[in-house]
Amino acid sequence: MMGAKNYAEMEEAHGSGVFEKYPLTIVKGSRASVWDAEGKEFIDCMAGYGVAITGHCNPQVVRAVRDQAQRLMTCHGSFYNDARSELLERLASVCPRGLDSAILTNSGTESVEAAIKLARRHTGRKRVISMKGGFHGKTFGALSATWNKKYREPFEPLLSHFEFVEYGNASALEAVIGEDTAAVIAEPIQGDTGVIIPPPEYLKVVRELCDKKGALLILDEIQTGLGRTGRMWASEHSGVIPDIMTVSKGLGGGVPIGAAVAPHEITRSLRKGEHTSTFAGNPLACAAASANLNFIVKNGLPDMAESKGRKMKSLLTGIASRHKIAREARGIGLMLALELRVDVHRVLLDSLSRGVIFAYSGREVVRLLPPIVITEAQMPKSAEVLDEAVGLEGSRHYG
Ligand SMILES: *Cc1c(COP(=O)(O)O)cnc(C)c1O
Repeated sequence: MMGAKNYAEMEEAHGSGVFEKYPLTIVKGSRASVWDAEGKEFIDCMAGYGVAITGHCNPQVVRAVRDQAQRLMTCHGSFYNDARSELLERLASVCPRGLDSAILTNSGTESVEAAIKLARRHTGRKRVISMKGGFHGKTFGALSATWNKKYREPFEPLLSHFEFVEYGNASALEAVIGEDTAAVIAEPIQGDTGVIIPPPEYLKVVRELCDKKGALLILDEIQTGLGRTGRMWASEHSGVIPDIMTVSKGLGGGVPIGAAVAPHEITRSLRKGEHTSTFAGNPLACAAASANLNFIVKNGLPDMAESKGRKMKSLLTGIASRHKIAREARGIGLMLALELRVDVHRVLLDSLSRGVIFAYSGREVVRLLPPIVITEAQMPKSAEVLDEAVGLEGSRHYG
């Protein structure tokens, strides 16, 4: 195109370069599709790591943002606000029983920061137990609970009083949890480390151990929440209710917002001014999140994720059975993974060139977090592309 701007070059010149980039410039989106500057369409099975859960530019979210933008965009938390109060009430109505109040934030990692501060303030204890393989964000507090050495080591020392135990192993937790433990933090399903589902009774035992020692259970539902796994919250699969739950990614329908939700008596353990943030609870993000939550509830997105997820998973299982290079298909709802025996880098790039975006989850795992509104036709199309890309990678290794 004559005179077309080279956006990739502009970002490389003036951005930090800290993001690992796909060779694609996205300029438009709708439902589970995105388009590049030349008008080529892609199926987005990454959805910003699950952010676009109700679809790109969900019309109800767009309308709410437009209406709110015309009325009031900023309102500091030191004032009451209609959009914020509506969201707080709406959020409480969809959260697990008893989690009726929230600290609003602007991201996932900030929601984890809030959860850690809440747990320390509420219990008066300092120790936090996190999980090997766990991912909770990259600011210093959340990073202290994150396992991956690649993210941690350049920035040590991190917060003290954090330790890690094997995920899915209740005895390992039992061996270290004590009367001085403020909180145990875990993802109900580990998202960043390969879509790892713990044994069925695991979270129940973790809950019991926390209760026995007076420690709070923080469940990080930033990736698993809001219908992604076929339930509103992944913790419902094990019938466990946490003391504090973190939510973000899909909450705002694409607009940055997060929350740490907890019973009132826990959120009230922070004194006035101890944890505030300028943009927290801003009306624009709140209006988007309310519209987004309404869409999720009205359209039964958890059930939709379950039935579409079952179809998508069987397609992935088929791919796994056809290729020697594939190890396993796994996941629940529309939080799915295909594990290979090799680095998936080329598979992701091949898929992209064939018009489908998939995500990493560790070096050998292709992760799928598509919008739950992905169409019935886009699922087999995506699987077909992945099948071809895996086949091509297999032929590179096995001839
Ligand atoms: C993405 C993610 C985070 C961090 O969220 P950011 O908005 O990137 O800071 C934390 N925990 C989990 C489980 C996540 O998937």
